[in-house]
Amino acid sequence: MIADAIHQIEASLPDYAKLIAVTKTKSVALMREAYVAGCHRFGENKVQEMVEKQPQLPADIEWHLIGHLQSNKVKYIAPFVTLIHSIDSLKLLQEVNKQAAKHHRIIKCLLQIYIADEETKFGLSPDEAAILLHAPELDGLSNIRLVGLMGLATNTNDEAQIRQEFRGLKQLFDQLATIERPNVQFKELSMGMSGDYRIALEEGSTMVRVGSAIFGSRN
Ligand SMILES: *Cc1c(COP(=O)(O)O)cnc(C)c1O
Repeated sequence: MIADAIHQIEASLPDYAKLIAVTKTKSVALMREAYVAGCHRFGENKVQEMVEKQPQLPADIEWHLIGHLQSNKVKYIAPFVTLIHSIDSLKLLQEVNKQAAKHHRIIKCLLQIYIADEETKFGLSPDEAAILLHAPELDGLSNIRLVGLMGLATNTNDEAQIRQEFRGLKQLFDQLATIERPNVQFKELSMGMSGDYRIALEEGSTMVRVGSAIFGSRN
């Protein structure tokens, strides 16, 4: 039951943490069910899928882009996206700023940090994130806000390793949160999925991105 799963996860969250229901590959009908159960934050990993679903669902939904984003697709989500979790370059941030300005919006963004012990995951290294946050060009980007970090732990059963990766990300978050720039206001740490969100919460996550634990496994 979607509603039961949502209520159970919501009940386990500290009051500063939010559930992002990851709805990739799931139908609009299932998303309506989640909406009725009180979940109004959806995460999609593909621009096209998000753009197709958004007009079919209530307007008060928060849309979170959690997958890799190409610069040439930013324009499609700029009118409505709430938070982009997957910023991995200054160039991409500049494009988000440009498209946000066209819609007179300020789009919130997270830097995706590479924390996993795997080659396939996107993201910035801690050094690259620090360099980006100190880049002089950042000051001109008045239509974006950098509000924190996102990371994916290694896909492993080794809880100690997952915990260590999340802990490292939290430490980086605390370190980078001291940087003072007009459009940088760190408050969100997006970490944790179905298999590891409990560990992520223990390590300081403020946003868990949960799909299969709510909607069942994807094909
Ligand atoms: C698919 C996905 C999730 C959710 O994964 P589940 O294991 O189904 O909870 C979370 N974050 C990202 C970036 C994803 O692509």
